[in-house]
Amino acid sequence: MEFGDITFTEKTRAVIKIQDGCDRFCSYCIIPYARGRVRSRKPKNILSEITKIAKEGIKEVVITGIHIASYGKDFKEEYKLIDLLEEINSIEGIERIRLGSIEPLLITEEFVNRLEKLSKVCHQFHLSLQSGCDETLKRMNRRYTTEQFKEITTLLRTYFEDAILTTDIIVGFPGESEEEFNQTYTFLEKIKFYKMHIFKYSPRKGTKAASMKGQVNGNIKEERSKKLIELSNKNQRYYNESYIGKSVEILFEEEKNGVYQGHTKNYILAHYKTSDKIENTILKLKCVKANEEYIIVE
Ligand code: SF4
Repeated sequence: MEFGDITFTEKTRAVIKIQDGCDRFCSYCIIPYARGRVRSRKPKNILSEITKIAKEGIKEVVITGIHIASYGKDFKEEYKLIDLLEEINSIEGIERIRLGSIEPLLITEEFVNRLEKLSKVCHQFHLSLQSGCDETLKRMNRRYTTEQFKEITTLLRTYFEDAILTTDIIVGFPGESEEEFNQTYTFLEKIKFYKMHIFKYSPRKGTKAASMKGQVNGNIKEERSKKLIELSNKNQRYYNESYIGKSVEILFEEEKNGVYQGHTKNYILAHYKTSDKIENTILKLKCVKANEEYIIVE
């Protein structure tokens, strides 16, 4: 099966879907039932698609899929995500390669070692953690422990000094007691993600978790979600402020009321007031101010 799936964001970025389906069967997720097993697009088709859009002026590609860590699992010959990234890295015209959400267990020393050599890969890593409590993770049928996850973040931060780590967290998963939630909170304080996307658990019919005992009350989910959003905002402000006085490269995407918006290579949103036309241009500018949401450059 072959399926191209490109969505353009203005003239700067293209989202490339490299695979579909998932074989993981997390207990809350309907995707393996709804979308079936892993199917990877052929590398030559992905590469020719990216070459074509690079010629049209696109500078940044976002590599996505349902479970991109499984890319190539269904091929006869060994060819993995890192092999594909190495080939994309050599496509002329592409200046930034961004990875979509990745399964934490993909991050091994070998993977990071090869990734480090790819100059176009953005050091922004979205690792879906889902919970910071080992018992909850087990019930979710996630396949890592918090200890392993911590090691993975240390590995990334050791190789990439400017790494920005983001994540998804589910609150109110069946059986999540106050104690389990507190463990998650403490773990998240330690990891200090740049940004966390918080989801209140909602049962999906046909999944294991939907019929688990200990479904959590909506008000409790709301409270827990609020606490984690506050923590996320605090972290984001902390990271953004740490850029004040530093020069950063920004790819500008669009203009709104005289202010251009763009992102740094590690995906920090930047605002720049200018009357110049700088869409789809990469500029190196100095961060002069920062808030919870973005940095201001001059
Ligand atoms: S949550 Fe992600 S890894 Fe787990 S089954 Fe769903 S798609 Fe697969």
